[in-house]
Amino acid sequence: MRDYIKRVLIALIMALCVSLLFLGGKHSEASMKVTKEIKNGWIWPTDGIISDTYGTRLGKHKGIDIAGKLNTPVLAVADGQVVKSYFSNTYGNVVFIKHPSHFVTVYAHLNKRTVFEGQNIKQGTVIGKMGRTGQATGTHLHFETHQQEWRFDKKFALDPEMLLGKVDTGEIVQGGIAGINDDVLEASSHVRPRKEDQMKEGKKQYIVKQGDTLYDISKKSKITVTRIKELNHLSSDLIKPKQILTVK
Ligand SMILES: [Zn+2]
Repeated sequence: MRDYIKRVLIALIMALCVSLLFLGGKHSEASMKVTKEIKNGWIWPTDGIISDTYGTRLGKHKGIDIAGKLNTPVLAVADGQVVKSYFSNTYGNVVFIKHPSHFVTVYAHLNKRTVFEGQNIKQGTVIGKMGRTGQATGTHLHFETHQQEWRFDKKFALDPEMLLGKVDTGEIVQGGIAGINDDVLEASSHVRPRKEDQMKEGKKQYIVKQGDTLYDISKKSKITVTRIKELNHLSSDLIKPKQILTVK
């Protein structure tokens, strides 16, 4: 009997811990904002190889580095407004975008900037070309995510992997792809808020299945491979399962 009571007590304590964790998460404004942004389906800003992650260099690296070819297009990860576009000695050519949720994203070391301050842009808009301007040792995009405005002390910086998905140094990412894990991607494709807008614009999406090639998808959706690549800013024929492609 005592054994039974002990077991019930342990179960109760565990249930309490779990519910506290859950409530704690639910009431945190930050985590709610992150969840909301995940539902908006952020895309990777460019093609390349992850060359450094968030929190390295004794915690001073407040962004993620994607190394790639000079002049690779750099895309806006979500809809928003360009709040800054200028040259800085450290960031080089840099663009800041403010998103409707007040998140701010930063795209640094660009070779060229192709947007102007005040411009409203859509997710996937090319905002510049990859470069190595400012304090950069090689051609790469330094990408930052802030939960609120950018500050000199980067107080509101957040690991971009929380919105784009977990990656490791050396991993290849592709611009235009929602890089979040399967569960989240599944969820985000159900609640994709701009679905109606996309229907209005006549946009159609296709989720890549295991074994699909661009050629298969072009047959199915009755458009050319070249058009699919154009629509999705793809620089190669490489696609992967669960990738969301615009096909119209
Ligand atoms: Zn960096």
